[in-house]
Amino acid sequence: MAEETIFSKIIRREIPADILYQDDLVTAFRDITPKAPTHILIIPNHLIPTANDIKASDEKALGRMMSVAAKLAQEAGIAEDGYRLIMNCNEHGGQEVFHIHMHLLGGKPLGPMLS
Ligand code: IMP
Repeated sequence: MAEETIFSKIIRREIPADILYQDDLVTAFRDITPKAPTHILIIPNHLIPTANDIKASDEKALGRMMSVAAKLAQEAGIAEDGYRLIMNCNEHGGQEVFHIHMHLLGGKPLGPMLS
């Protein structure tokens, strides 16, 4: 059984977070240490520790994460200039919180990701 992270407490509103969106499948909130002017995390409400654990039954929540990211990018006014969506996996990917999350980053030119 996977262990809950701080993100489960954010979903249940047990600890403070700047929640921008929540529905039956996903929650989106501002990253506590933003790496860009807009830095939002979009997560499934149920615990999936890493991208390796994604199953077909998670597809509805994963799809919702994508559509919510697009909606929040529009609302943040960064859609036209562009933005980056990232999901880190395990040690080499730099994952620190083991509840999958999509980073939505934008508001400035982010440059090439791979160099
Ligand atoms: P990762 O490296 O892809 O796992 O990213 C984890 C992200 O979660 C980092 O960008 C952290 O700043 C962010 N983070 C960790 N704890 C909190 C929190 O309590 N609220 C909001 N963001 C958090």
